[in-house]
Amino acid sequence: MCNDKLAALQARWADIADLTHAADVLEWDQLVNMPPGGARARGEQLGTLRRMAHERLTDPRAGEELAAAEAGSPPAGVRTWLRAARREYERAARIPSALVAATSRAATEGYAAWVEAREHNDFSRFAPALARLLDLARERADAVGHNGERYDGLLAEHEPEMRTERLRTIFDEIRRTLLPLIEAIGARPQPSRAPFRRRLAESGQLRAGEAAITAFGYDWRRGRQDRSVHPFSTAFGPGDARITTRLHPDDFAVGFYATLHEAGHALYEQGLPEAWARGPLGRAASTAVHESQSRLWENMVGRSLPFWEHFTPILRQCLPGAFDSASPGDLFLASNVVEPSLIRVEADELTYNLHVALRFELELALLHGDLPVADLPGAWNDAMLATFGIRPGDDLHGVLQDVHWSQGGFAYFPSYTLGNVLAAQWMDSAHRTLGDLDALFRRGEFGPLLMFLRTEIHARGAGPTPDELAEAVSGQMTHPGPYLRYLRAKFSAIYALS
Ligand code: ZN
Repeated sequence: MCNDKLAALQARWADIADLTHAADVLEWDQLVNMPPGGARARGEQLGTLRRMAHERLTDPRAGEELAAAEAGSPPAGVRTWLRAARREYERAARIPSALVAATSRAATEGYAAWVEAREHNDFSRFAPALARLLDLARERADAVGHNGERYDGLLAEHEPEMRTERLRTIFDEIRRTLLPLIEAIGARPQPSRAPFRRRLAESGQLRAGEAAITAFGYDWRRGRQDRSVHPFSTAFGPGDARITTRLHPDDFAVGFYATLHEAGHALYEQGLPEAWARGPLGRAASTAVHESQSRLWENMVGRSLPFWEHFTPILRQCLPGAFDSASPGDLFLASNVVEPSLIRVEADELTYNLHVALRFELELALLHGDLPVADLPGAWNDAMLATFGIRPGDDLHGVLQDVHWSQGGFAYFPSYTLGNVLAAQWMDSAHRTLGDLDALFRRGEFGPLLMFLRTEIHARGAGPTPDELAEAVSGQMTHPGPYLRYLRAKFSAIYALS
């Protein structure tokens, strides 16, 4: 095996990681601190850094170095490294740089058109930009390569080895189980959201979120929390994994669960092996696997009764007087109200997946050309009516609500539901390994679960594909069985369904 080539390759990937993380720091600053006047210069700085990283990655010499290193029958650890590097290289090198530039321009214009369309509550102002982005997405899918299903080409950017056909089956199964469950719940009395719906001091709200994620094991020496318009998490290596949140003055759940969700992402980043930080293995196995971590802590832990049994007294200390009359059971119910609604990001655990399924079907039809862009708002509203029995009154509460498509983010939504699906597989496996998780949570002991995730998932980085990871941790490939069982059990109990 040729060590020179391997060393050159590793130095190349270290450069790429540094350039990418430097851009990520600038992006964090843009969303958290930057005055509006900085926008133009920041755009240029980010463009330069991202372009440099892309050039380092797609340099023909990178391909030569890879081929040489692979040819030398390397040991297993190096082979895993090379496989991950090869995946990144292939993905980037197959897309011509003219297409990358055109997509980046169209995404900037698309975002601006989307913002304008939202201001006027008028989809038609966004339609031409969306049509252009779809053309470019088709080109990108063809450049990446696929077996006649273009959606596969786009999906590969987020979920290695996932296929459209398999996604259809997964979504069909989810719909078949959840639709009757949601309907049955609709006939039952609703729990009250009142405990969360009150005016609360921002400082106390922040303290409560911080207390919860500290208990989960979020390491503040390797992270921090700030405020931003849309909550997000970002990491520049395992030593610096940050989160943001957004507070609502009259709804405690908004900020609290945003903090828990983003902390789930950040716990994953803090758990990635330090030694891999500047290479292709030192990142998440996929978007869905990342999402599985945030959903697990937000929903399966943070919206459980044992969590509230532990956390209610702490919440009372963070916000004196506000929760004195609310029991753990009240807070558990308030955090699990199921109600069909128009907006995906505000949806409960059950209906959320149907919002995702709807987007999956629509973007498939758009990409295939079966649905003309001009007909999208109508198709959206029809699908909402068919799924939830409610019809958006305007584009703002319908087709214009999500930012993803405006930036060319197609085939991204399924990762949210796949994340839920994987999270349930991890929890099943954690139950088998750790025993009674509820008893641990009730005592505020979240360390064993974090350690389990560290060993089984975080420590493996991007080595395994999502299916390999699922197989290794749960004994089965990605499949919705455990997730649907979890949802049925949890919500049948909450709503007293037989
Ligand atoms: Zn997330």
